[in-house]
Amino acid sequence: MKQENELFTIRHSCEHVLMQAMENLGYKILKAMGPATDDGFYFDFDLLDGRITEEDFPKIEAEMLRIKSQNLPISRISLTPPISLQLFKDNPYKLEWVAEAIKRNDPITAYWTGEPNKKGSFVDLCAGPHVTNTSEIGFFKLLSVAGAYWRGSEKNKMLTRVYGTAFPTQKELDDYLALQEEIKKRDHRKLGRDLELFTFSEEIGPGLPLWLPAGTTIKDELEKWGKETEEKWGYQRVSTPFLTKRKLFEISGHVPYFEEEMYKVHVPRDEKDEYFIRPMNCPFHHMIFKSQLRSYKELPLRLAEYGHVARYEDAGSLNGILRPRFFCQNDAHIYSTEDQAVDEFVSVVNLHRYYYDTLGLKNYHIVLCLRDPKKKGKYHGNETMWQKAEKLSREALEKSKIEYAVENEGAAHYGPKMDFKIKSAIGAEYGISTNQIDLFMPKRFNLTYIDKDGKEKLVVVQHRAPLGSSERFVGFLIEHFSGNFPLWLSPTQVQIIPISNQLDKYVQKILNYLIDQNIRTRANLESDTMQNKIRKAQELKIPVMVIIGNKEKDQEKISVRYRDGKQENLIELEAFTKTLKDRIIAKSLDIY
Ligand SMILES: [Zn+2]
Ligand SMILES: [Zn+2]
Repeated sequence: MKQENELFTIRHSCEHVLMQAMENLGYKILKAMGPATDDGFYFDFDLLDGRITEEDFPKIEAEMLRIKSQNLPISRISLTPPISLQLFKDNPYKLEWVAEAIKRNDPITAYWTGEPNKKGSFVDLCAGPHVTNTSEIGFFKLLSVAGAYWRGSEKNKMLTRVYGTAFPTQKELDDYLALQEEIKKRDHRKLGRDLELFTFSEEIGPGLPLWLPAGTTIKDELEKWGKETEEKWGYQRVSTPFLTKRKLFEISGHVPYFEEEMYKVHVPRDEKDEYFIRPMNCPFHHMIFKSQLRSYKELPLRLAEYGHVARYEDAGSLNGILRPRFFCQNDAHIYSTEDQAVDEFVSVVNLHRYYYDTLGLKNYHIVLCLRDPKKKGKYHGNETMWQKAEKLSREALEKSKIEYAVENEGAAHYGPKMDFKIKSAIGAEYGISTNQIDLFMPKRFNLTYIDKDGKEKLVVVQHRAPLGSSERFVGFLIEHFSGNFPLWLSPTQVQIIPISNQLDKYVQKILNYLIDQNIRTRANLESDTMQNKIRKAQELKIPVMVIIGNKEKDQEKISVRYRDGKQENLIELEAFTKTLKDRIIAKSLDIY
């Protein structure tokens, strides 16, 4: 914690030096605000004249360096209300802060850089804390310019914001900047475009992804894997509509709480009922459970579906396929007796382990999200139910021996929630899937079974979606693999590159053979140079290229070039195919 405070102090002090540098350079600005953040700092100001762009940064950074090297002292002074009103009389933004501080009876302080009231010194209204000398502001870099409303409200004036960052050492700054570069390179929206995975259309609407052929292949492979795995793990598949009468979500309690996030459907002709597009699949599976009288002998019953759902996310929170408005969930609901619930949970955790291990995801843990103790009123269900659900969840977490943390917020409105947090290869953390032990919906939907003793009892429901939504999961994997998908997930697994187009017959023979062996193969028959064809395949991050020239044709062999640049000349097609197939079946994570 102390370390974090030191970092924030450095960053905030750096931001003061930024303000001073801009004043020294003669920018006509009114300072508004500027905090330190987890990533650095920013400075909001009202630009009264002229323009500022990233091209101005070198000049400003040079002035900041000059101020740093001047070793100016930074000192805190207390101000009386009249003095503070006088000192900031020309700045309406600072006066707004001062007026609020006076109203709250808060102490008012300012920080001087340099000797107060002397030429070349600088003052700002500020609560601090700061380093004591400009030489201690660390190593910094200005990053970008953006617009920002005064105090974040659209009703206020749009100000200019300069983002920057600072670290105690040059190495930490360099590492941070390198990571930012890597994040930009791996941005799933950029790679989604470059690798032709998905797109959006203005006419269709924001947040509604269109999967292109290459993206669809990845999504289909994951879904196929999910279905095959669930079959082995004792799940049964069901299929349900993504449209329902309002009534269903009244029973589940989502109406009225979540009505704002649900799409209503215009119903043609004289149908009286109101219909929704579903934001979740659960109640549909509950109705399947309820469609028959259930005996304890049938439990646990695991109903699985790749279910499409739509949720109205705020336009501002949409983020490519990581946060769309329409997506497909790797969903299932497990109906069990209370005694079976913990073991079912452990099995779900193990299922996650299997998926994550296969994909080489090593860095994950669970967060158990409980009720916010201050807002107990906003949840459904009674105290006993919540306590029991929490007890079962904790027991299950202990028994599954997975690393976990507990948070007093983020529960679902009907029960505690367990979020799986995974880190991508570059350390960014994602919430991909959740698991819930639910005692509320069984009551709400009257989900019962006949027990050994002939008595009717409520089941326990578990909600789980280890592969999350296909959209979010693929978005995550794009970043994680940086677009270099393992062979089994690669949209095109083999690209055939003929050296000339006189080889068509032999190329066709190889193409047919590989396709027949279920290896996704394309041939580039364009009249282009071999170098260009190789470059194109590399841009699409295709793992394997088969190069065919006269030598290969004459000897009935192939030459192979892999994604990492490794090459094998004049090898047997059959042996090569077998190796590829073995790697595909094993879901190998090797580069090819
Ligand atoms: Zn400050
Ligand atoms: Zn559910």
